[in-house]
Parts: sequence; C-alpha cells; structure tokens
Amino acid sequence: MVLLDQLLANKNLQLIGCCKELNAAYAAEGYARANGCGAVITTNAQTLNGEHWAAKRVEDAYIVSIPDKSSLVEALNDFVIAQKIKAGQITGVGASNEAILRFFNPATKKYVDKTFAEQMEISNLSGNISEVDGKPKLHLHVTLGRRDYTALTGHLLDAKIRGAGEFFVYPIDAKVVKVKNEEVGLDFYDFED
Ligand code: FE
Repeated sequence: MVLLDQLLANKNLQLIGCCKELNAAYAAEGYARANGCGAVITTNAQTLNGEHWAAKRVEDAYIVSIPDKSSLVEALNDFVIAQKIKAGQITGVGASNEAILRFFNPATKKYVDKTFAEQMEISNLSGNISEVDGKPKLHLHVTLGRRDYTALTGHLLDAKIRGAGEFFVYPIDAKVVKVKNEEVGLDFYDFED
C-alpha cells in the first residue's frame, strides 16, 4: 500500500476505485481512449496454507479456514506463529464434536476442565492474541450450541472441528504483553511493558 499512498499524495492524479479488476481495466481503457492515457493498479489477496489451516489475507485481516477433524486451537496457534502475529483479535463460527472448556474458580485459583463430546455448533468464538513470556498466547472463549438448542460456554482449551471452521483474525501492529497476577491467579495486561 506504499505505492497507493504515494499516488494519493499526488494532486495531479485522480483515483477512481473499482470493485473488480475487469471493471477497472475497462474503465482505464475508456479513460485512455478519451484522454490519451490511463492506468490500472490492483491489489491481490494472498492465499496462505499451514498445518491444518488455510488463510486468505485481505488488506490487514486474515480469513482462516480450519478443516474437518482438525484441532481448532492447535491450528490457530500454528497460524498465529506462522504469520508472526503478536497481538490482535479473533472471531469465528463453525462446528465441533469435542470441546474442552475451562472454568476458573477465583476462590481456589484453580481451573476446572470439562470435555464435551457431542456434535455442537460453534455459534461464537471470540478471543485475543497477546504475548506471555515472550510467546504469542491466545485467550479464547466460546459459545457452543447443542442438539437441543441450549448453549454451553466457557474458556476454550481446544475443540475438534466437525464440519466447518471459519475464523477472522485481525492483527494489530503492537506489542501487547500479559503478566501473571499472583493475587488473582490469571494473566493480566501489562501496559507498562
Ligand atoms: Fe478465559
């Protein structure tokens, strides 16, 4: 986008946006026929592949597909490391047939983990990416729809995709650090770092 920024700064050029490359090419040709000169600039979405994921980068966001029978959290971790994403936001939907949820008890500072092995809709996954001890760390929560249309929800340790897994990842160009708060027993944002 550096080239585009430079072109936009040039007062002698007029930028006309088009949604599709073919339309842009016809428009530029028509402009050139009428005025003697026209130009087309396109940006292309980048397709990426990794360990149990495929992704498409569109501008600053990633659309991530996690295939059937893959581990959701393993795949998202691999994706974040492969793309060197240090901070950002994750959202998603899909379906799973096995999920491990975690509940934190502040009174005991202990986690209670429970596995649910049944077909469920991932009706919402939301989470964030930050850095803990110098490594990228995903903090994910999920809402899972059961066969009887009731919902389970909690902190997500992992889930196996059974059906589709569709995610959006929005990286930010920043270092966001979390540090364990011993008093509470959880990782907290440390904005002083
Ligand atoms: Fe959590």
